[in-house]
Amino acid sequence: MDAEEILHLKIRLLTEGATLPESEYGGRKGGAGPVGGRYFLLPNGRACGIPIRSGEQAILYNSAPLIPTENPAVWLYDGIIELQAIPRPRFYDLKTPDGIPYYQIALLHGDRTLATTVYQSCRYWSHGTQCKFCTIPLSYRSGDTVLEKNPRNIADVVLAAEQEGVIDNVLLTTGTPESEDMGIERLIRVIEAIREISQIPIGVQFEPPIDKNEIHAVSNAGATAVGMHIETADDAVREEICPGKFQYGPLDLYKLSWQYALDYFPKGHVSTFILHGLGEDLEKTLSLIRELADVGIMPVVTPVRPSHGSQLANFKPTYVGKLNETLSFYQEVGKILFDSGLNPEATLAGCHRCGGCTPIQEAYDWAASIETL
Ligand code: SF4
Repeated sequence: MDAEEILHLKIRLLTEGATLPESEYGGRKGGAGPVGGRYFLLPNGRACGIPIRSGEQAILYNSAPLIPTENPAVWLYDGIIELQAIPRPRFYDLKTPDGIPYYQIALLHGDRTLATTVYQSCRYWSHGTQCKFCTIPLSYRSGDTVLEKNPRNIADVVLAAEQEGVIDNVLLTTGTPESEDMGIERLIRVIEAIREISQIPIGVQFEPPIDKNEIHAVSNAGATAVGMHIETADDAVREEICPGKFQYGPLDLYKLSWQYALDYFPKGHVSTFILHGLGEDLEKTLSLIRELADVGIMPVVTPVRPSHGSQLANFKPTYVGKLNETLSFYQEVGKILFDSGLNPEATLAGCHRCGGCTPIQEAYDWAASIETL
């Protein structure tokens, strides 16, 4: 497949999703990243977290079937495209001395990122102003994970996953507690615990703190990359979809915080999620993406994935039924990234390092391919 076909395939998989035979598991049910998905490798060898849909949802999204073949490692998408299943890592079978299974502490995202939500609650849920796509407390409430992870336990899981040879980076995220540090002190304790046993690249995500020195402290503790997520470039959509975050942090606070972070983290290692499909103004979105990429901030542009249990569960993303328009949008994103020299693959940590939920790597590769023709 050429770069355009791969980009088209990834966008299709991320937006339309796939159906599975009834007997198959449909992915994790709650957390800070997209849920309800399953990871496969595309023909370009990169990970894709495919939303798994069924019933009316599958009809709405036009999800094509994904079916197992005689070879357990190979699945067939839409009857013709072979995808590689990412095997369940062996470290999932281990437990801490107090009996917590390692898979309740951290999970493999894609084929090389160990991700964990350090604190599985968020002040905006208590205030009733949570982000409408969020499901952060659900996996804790359902018993799939623990409320607050112990730094030592996380470090032990990192070590086991590294020894198994299945990860090359770690991603730490958190819900926002009531405290002014936005949960950063807790993240720092985890970074320090990991640094006692490993030099693996670590990406951390949090809301912009009131005291910007907290960002410096994250770097001092040994983080490799930081993400502070604006979620959308369109203020009207942001106010509607992320009321709590919107009230707390205007775009200007994010801009100052990203810029400040660039003093401590290299180009491409400061990032922000920009969701696509919420009805946002695409010109505004591309304009912010350009502004960010110009100074070395990685825009992790990602199709929104309405999850069960979130307030968006029944929301129909604006990309539904508009595959060609969506492809053109991501091609623009790819050109911007390429022109700015921001290759996600050239970074060491951050959500874009896994890349399972975003087609920005494929968009960059497509732009590079037309440039070299
Ligand atoms: S800030 Fe929004 S997305 Fe993040 S944990 Fe809180 S409610 Fe969820």
